[in-house]
Amino acid sequence: MNAPYAPAAVAGLDPPCEPAQAQLLALQQRLAQEQYRRALAEQVLTERTLELRGALQTARDSERRLNLALWATGEGIWEWDVAADRVKVGGLVTGGQPVDLAAVTLDQLLAGVHFGDQPTLRAALDQHAQGEQAQVDIDFRMRLGGEWRWLHARGRSLQRDDQGLAMQVTGTIRDVSDQHEAEHLRRLMAHAFASTLDALVVVDAGWAVVQANAAFEALMGLEGGGVAGQHLQNLLRFVPDPAQPMPWRGEALMRDEQGDRALEVAITRIEPVAGGQQQHLVALRDISERRRAEQALERQALFDSLTGLANRAAINQHLAARVGRADAPGFSLLFIDLDGFKAVNDSFGHRAGDQLLQQAAERLRTGLPQAFIGRWGGDEFVITLTDGGDDYLLRESAQVIIAALGQPYLIDGHRMSVTPSIGAVNHPADGTDAALLVRRADAAMYAAKAQGRNCLVIYTARLDDGVARSSRLQNLVRSDAERNAFHFVVQPKVNAAGRTTGAELLMRWTTEEFGAVSPAEFIPIAERIGMIPLMGRHALHAAARIANEVRALGSDASVSVNLSPRQLLRPDLERTVLHACQHNRTDPSQIELELTESALVTDIGHVEKLLIRLRRHGFKLSLDDFGTGYSSLSHLRNLPFHKVKIDRSFVMDLERSPKSRVMLEGLVRLCSNLGMGTVAEGVETEAQFALLRAMGVDEYQGFLFARPQWQAQWIAKLRQELAG
Ligand code: C2E
Ligand code: CA
Ligand code: CA
Repeated sequence: MNAPYAPAAVAGLDPPCEPAQAQLLALQQRLAQEQYRRALAEQVLTERTLELRGALQTARDSERRLNLALWATGEGIWEWDVAADRVKVGGLVTGGQPVDLAAVTLDQLLAGVHFGDQPTLRAALDQHAQGEQAQVDIDFRMRLGGEWRWLHARGRSLQRDDQGLAMQVTGTIRDVSDQHEAEHLRRLMAHAFASTLDALVVVDAGWAVVQANAAFEALMGLEGGGVAGQHLQNLLRFVPDPAQPMPWRGEALMRDEQGDRALEVAITRIEPVAGGQQQHLVALRDISERRRAEQALERQALFDSLTGLANRAAINQHLAARVGRADAPGFSLLFIDLDGFKAVNDSFGHRAGDQLLQQAAERLRTGLPQAFIGRWGGDEFVITLTDGGDDYLLRESAQVIIAALGQPYLIDGHRMSVTPSIGAVNHPADGTDAALLVRRADAAMYAAKAQGRNCLVIYTARLDDGVARSSRLQNLVRSDAERNAFHFVVQPKVNAAGRTTGAELLMRWTTEEFGAVSPAEFIPIAERIGMIPLMGRHALHAAARIANEVRALGSDASVSVNLSPRQLLRPDLERTVLHACQHNRTDPSQIELELTESALVTDIGHVEKLLIRLRRHGFKLSLDDFGTGYSSLSHLRNLPFHKVKIDRSFVMDLERSPKSRVMLEGLVRLCSNLGMGTVAEGVETEAQFALLRAMGVDEYQGFLFARPQWQAQWIAKLRQELAG
């Protein structure tokens, strides 16, 4: 500081010469000194003022700076005047809104704090006030602006009294809700990451594993760790192109000791924090089980579960696709039905039938590897030939099918055989509609059956008449059965000496539309539409009436009546049969009931009991058509038959097959040993008759002796015979 001008000259004056003058001089001196002092004081004062101003400025600046700092961190200031019990909060911003609390009591403040945080906040303040804690540093929730916000308060006391109690505590306060939420979320995520059943792995930009969860380690079979740092490709043998747009979803295969596993993969890019590395989150889910279930469902929906061939739905789908377009290429459709399959099912049970179908399906697959093959249902198959529309190819393929399916089947040690009847259509010549094609192929198949089975019939327009015929016949059988429009003929049976032993009742039917219809055609229809029990009742009454006429002649000849398997299944059969006899006053011993073997397998226990009861009533029982289907010798032994009727096919073979002869000889002897009679059916020649007689067959039936005839004819002949 520069000193103000000092009056040195005054100080250096000569001594006063005069008292007045000396007095003046002294005064002047004092004045000068006074002025000097004053100047000095002024100067000091000015300097002090400036200093104070500067300090003030500095203080203002630092307050501004402090406020700026607080604003930047979002912090406010709180003050607690302990002695006065006053709390002030200022400058706090939460949710974009300023919060200012002016002078409330601590209790008032606490009232706004979350119930759960009140005790801890109070304790923190008290402990600090009492000097137990160096500072206040606490998070708590407070209701602000209608919602709970997390606040973080820090602070300490500026002054303590003699007892060391804080007088005033001051500090900062900040809304930390976002951090809390982020933290909560982080914990949740960490928990989810660790415990989810999905395999999760975080990989770096080079697809190396940064972090993996337990499910991922389990999926990799690396539960002991050792996943980190590994390249994803080494673990999965799969890595999507990182250039793929993210998120990426797809599937990948993983191969391990357990075989191939299907994985569902979802990849998301984790946006890097500033300066951080690009990472990806890869989520994997083992969907092998689901895939397997889906595939099983798909197979079920489109494949026949027994044979693995396409099922009816799949056939329809396949056909629809092939006929769909106008320019669809030509193809041939074959409809196959197995002849004799019913007998397998009936004689050996459904399990054997199923096995036969499986083998048949396999043979078709092997025989026609290029063809589409499906199971239409039951013993029916549908085949489409890849390049079709050509009759030559069609016949070739049919030959393959006939050869393949005609081989004997070995099932459970039994040899069985079936043959195919095949109907075929050509697309587009025979139709451009899938359903129509199948219908026509089916009609052709029926024609093949009618032509003697085991052959192919290619559809022609004429066959449509056949389809119309069968549906028309169905209606006619139904109405004619209801009005009892069927009638009966009898075919006599004779013994070795040619004397009549009885006659078999055979049903006949003549319609206006179709003329005479064979029982071989209408009996199966009647069975199918459930009219056979009614028609069978009529037959039983007819047989009883004829038996009465025979008795009236004094003959003990019997009348045989055929029982269909369907009738046998009915619980009222016994009653029906008895009723026919009682109603007509006929002795049951005059009635012979003929049952085919296929009737026996349905429920052998039930049939056995039924037969025993019928036998007790006095009926004669014979086993019809023995030698067709799959005759079982155990039926002969276990069931109470009086007679066995040897099938016509057996008799036909006699002359040319020595083997048949030997077998038949054995059979006749066996029956006689078991106390059963034998009847030979379909005897047409003297040679057959001679051979059968030599074997000791008891009765004979066939064109050689008599054709089926009117009842009156037979009765007349019988009367003659008795008279002669
Ligand atoms: P089935 O019980 O085996 O009857 C014998 C069949 O052989 C009869 O055929 C008869 O006419 C035929 N036949 C007899 N002798 C000869 C012969 O020397 N040569 C040839 N080629 N055939 C001969 P039909 O009358 O056509 O009956 C066929 C089948 O229809 C019967 O076979 C039987 O299973 C069934 N059926 C006929 N009438 C009835 C009936 O009233 N009820 C039931 N449920 N079925 C019946
Ligand atoms: Ca018969
Ligand atoms: Ca027969």
